[in-house]
Amino acid sequence: MSSPQGQMKYEQQPLFIGGQRHKTTNTFQTIDPACNTPLADICQADKASIHAAVEAGKNAFPSWSATPPMERSRILLRAVKLLRERNDELATIETHDTGKPFTETSTVDVVTGADVLEYYANLIASGGLNGETTQLRPDAWMYTTKAPLGVCAGIGAWNYPIQIALWKSAPCLAAGNCMVYKPSEFTPLHALKLAEIYMKAGVPPGVFNVVQGAGDVGALLTSHPGIAKVSFTGQVSTGAKVASSAASGMKYVTMELGGKSPCIILPDANVEDAVDGAMMANFFSTGQVCTNGTRVFVPESILPAFEKRLLEKMVHVRPGDVMDPSTNFGPLVSEVHSQKVQKYIAHGIEIDKAKLLYGGLGKPTLPPGVSPNGFWVRPTIFTNCTDTMLIAREEIFGPVMCILPYPAHHPSYLSSLIRRANDTSMGLAAGVFTRDIDLAHKVVAQLQAGITWVNTWGESPAEMPVGGWKMSGLGVENGRRGLEGWVRNKSTLVEMGGTVGTVFAKL
Ligand code: NDP
Repeated sequence: MSSPQGQMKYEQQPLFIGGQRHKTTNTFQTIDPACNTPLADICQADKASIHAAVEAGKNAFPSWSATPPMERSRILLRAVKLLRERNDELATIETHDTGKPFTETSTVDVVTGADVLEYYANLIASGGLNGETTQLRPDAWMYTTKAPLGVCAGIGAWNYPIQIALWKSAPCLAAGNCMVYKPSEFTPLHALKLAEIYMKAGVPPGVFNVVQGAGDVGALLTSHPGIAKVSFTGQVSTGAKVASSAASGMKYVTMELGGKSPCIILPDANVEDAVDGAMMANFFSTGQVCTNGTRVFVPESILPAFEKRLLEKMVHVRPGDVMDPSTNFGPLVSEVHSQKVQKYIAHGIEIDKAKLLYGGLGKPTLPPGVSPNGFWVRPTIFTNCTDTMLIAREEIFGPVMCILPYPAHHPSYLSSLIRRANDTSMGLAAGVFTRDIDLAHKVVAQLQAGITWVNTWGESPAEMPVGGWKMSGLGVENGRRGLEGWVRNKSTLVEMGGTVGTVFAKL
């Protein structure tokens, strides 16, 4: 992994098909966002290699799906152990590939991925794939069984590469399916490592395959007739294309898409907690988190105190060397994405004319020795935003907070606030900060979002099903419900009374 002048940090990344590394002639490069230099050449999948990966999955499916859940569980738990042993090595790869600080990737990305694998491995060993039995009459009963789907496609975004790969492959493999996984072309490095960890743990060849490439590879995979399900994480617009392609083959889908989530501070909130929550909801992972609470509703009564404390705390957002233990804010993932975020900031200043409270255009001040060539943007806060501003309506997916002040003196303020919070086509997450726990639940019950938080933001443990409402997605990942998306149901009615019914009996 050393990088003498002019050499890549990582070896060429082949595809991984049927338990073997698989080279192709065409390659593309992955770039280190912290310094804008190539990290590795990546083999690009073509139609033939995608087909080979699906065939490898098909060949592996009969035996893997027939492996008893207890045995599958043991194998997957060995992979969990390997992931945890290699946490820092994998986190370093994620930091190089995504630009996210090592302080984050070493404590969140691999950890939360391994947790989900452990959760599903344990769940299937303790009856998680059992069906139900209903005694209908003394001599008739009904039972259900759950069957795996077959070969499934996983298509990932670039913000949490190994976590997304694990959140998809863990329930997929645990349920007895096989997977062909395509990571984002911007963050491909984790996929081969994960495939080799699965193999080392005892996952048979062909159960987990990797194809690399851009959207065209994803599209070929989605439309392949051998694919039974597509689990997709990405933008709403791409998700709509993927879902419609999958629909023509009547494939199962899970869609984990974008959001423009409301973070609601109520008048009685503890300002300190509310500020911490709003910062977490906007600047963690340099704002590249799907569940970010980018519309921060603050009552006018506490707005001055909220903004003052927020500005005081912004000194704790520290850009710097991404491997430095004191850095907690990295560059954005790619040049194209940093340009997109800068455009939104410019729009907020020039067209929306929101009040710029912090940050703005350009790069943040970096400590000496840190490359200025990285895809940096400044953590930015707009205030006095209104609902119609573009920056308050569209997902920016960068470190840009919009504060929307609201009057709370009128008794009907709450219904107006909830209407505004819900006034978006997306519905991924939402949160409320208040000391009044009754009120918190009343508000949460009215929010149109699949993931909600009370007095906190962002935690997404393995036990918690997560998925969006409205245009933010279909289905859920994680928790018991997450496993249901990877199986089909079979209902069987058994009659022991010797009759098939009375309709024709007398004819
Ligand atoms: P994109 O939609 O651009 O890409 C997602 C994946 O889809 C990538 O692997 C991409 O390939 C691939 N892809 C692109 N076009 C097609 C196609 N026509 N058919 C099949 N696959 C295709 O999303 P981003 O990578 O930009 O990710 C950011 C988005 O992801 C944000 O909107 C964010 O909110 C969302 N997200 C949602 C999460 C959730 O759980 N709800 C979690 C994390 C992110 P390539 O990149 O190589 O072109």
